[in-house]
Amino acid sequence: MSELLSEAEARDAADGLAGLRDRFVLDGAVYLDGNSLGALPAHVPARMEDVIRRQWGELRIRSWTEGGWWTAPERVGDRIAPLVGAAAGQTVVGDSTSVNVFKALVAAVRMAREDGGGRDEILVDAATFPTDGYIAASAARLTDCRLRPVAPAEVPSALGGRTAAVLLNHVDYRTGRLHDLPALTAAAHAAGAYTVWDLCHSAGALPVGLDAHGVDLAVGCTYKYLNGGPGSPAFLYVRRDLQDRFDSPLPGWNSHAEPFGMRPGYEPAEGAVRGRVGTPDILSLLALEAALEVWDGVSVAAVRAKSLALTDFFLRCVGEYVPAGRVESVTPEAHAERGSQVALRCPSDAGGVMRRLIGRGVVGDHRAPDILRFGFTPLYVGFADTERAARVLAEVVG
Ligand SMILES: *Cc1c(COP(=O)(O)O)cnc(C)c1O
Repeated sequence: MSELLSEAEARDAADGLAGLRDRFVLDGAVYLDGNSLGALPAHVPARMEDVIRRQWGELRIRSWTEGGWWTAPERVGDRIAPLVGAAAGQTVVGDSTSVNVFKALVAAVRMAREDGGGRDEILVDAATFPTDGYIAASAARLTDCRLRPVAPAEVPSALGGRTAAVLLNHVDYRTGRLHDLPALTAAAHAAGAYTVWDLCHSAGALPVGLDAHGVDLAVGCTYKYLNGGPGSPAFLYVRRDLQDRFDSPLPGWNSHAEPFGMRPGYEPAEGAVRGRVGTPDILSLLALEAALEVWDGVSVAAVRAKSLALTDFFLRCVGEYVPAGRVESVTPEAHAERGSQVALRCPSDAGGVMRRLIGRGVVGDHRAPDILRFGFTPLYVGFADTERAARVLAEVVG
């Protein structure tokens, strides 16, 4: 047995989170794609059986009130809140991340306008996940703003008296680089601008500290590190003291102060509910709620510590096993700059390499043109998995 493998086995044996793996449905594959679709928590199918057969099938319309369906968006939001460092009452779940980016960004510009000073510029992460960029471009057109793509590190120097809002990805989906949320939020505030953070690759992977760092607005996926299931609804955070000023560009009846008053005029509800739009997607929402139970008693700090240990170990194993020159990490070495994934540039046939890896039971993904992405979900990935992934990669590219 190689030294790295025996080290891996010793570290798995000492890992306080190792027992959580049994709470997921997994097979013999090494699943390193939880940053795209988290694995299924084992208790979710039975819960959904109850939701569908009893709540829908038997209680029918009564479930909206007696079964707690109507208030599920806020309730599930409050379940996610501690995972991203938010006190209760500021997070609501519903719609996709794309839709929430739209709500948050337009609302941010509206708040900046209300502050005065004729602000007319939106800064967007130049390397953003594409949907955020497309939505930002449309939000800019609708609000008569200029959209300026800027590398996150350049944001402090790009901010100015014209900046209304800044839309940033907390972790770059391609490289796995973690951006400095506290410093960038503070810089935006010093310039009088509002921040919208996209937490798709940090929620459930690392401490975010939304309240502690004074973030204005945030959105995030629940089907990646939160394991909510394919297309599970996203979350929207609106800081408490901004809620009265949150003027949604999608003011549906679910965010009305009196939704069943069926009044012709819109009057927004108070609190996080203001971020809702229409009827929630109950099946997906309740699958997410069930999935979040795996977090009971789990600290995000412990998850982060294991995540960094896993990605460090993966980089070490890749360095030892993979012949020089075949792959090159584009993920930062520094812990303060690393999310929970490792991205390797593979100049020669990255797509084919990933297909062969998957064929041999190591599941990551390929991002065009030449990136191999490996996501590490500490709830169910261990050190021996990590060693095996690097060993198989070495065989495939060697
Ligand atoms: C995964 C991801 C999305 C996905 O948005 P959807 O609306 O759920 O399709 C958006 N932004 C980022 C940064 C992502 O990583």
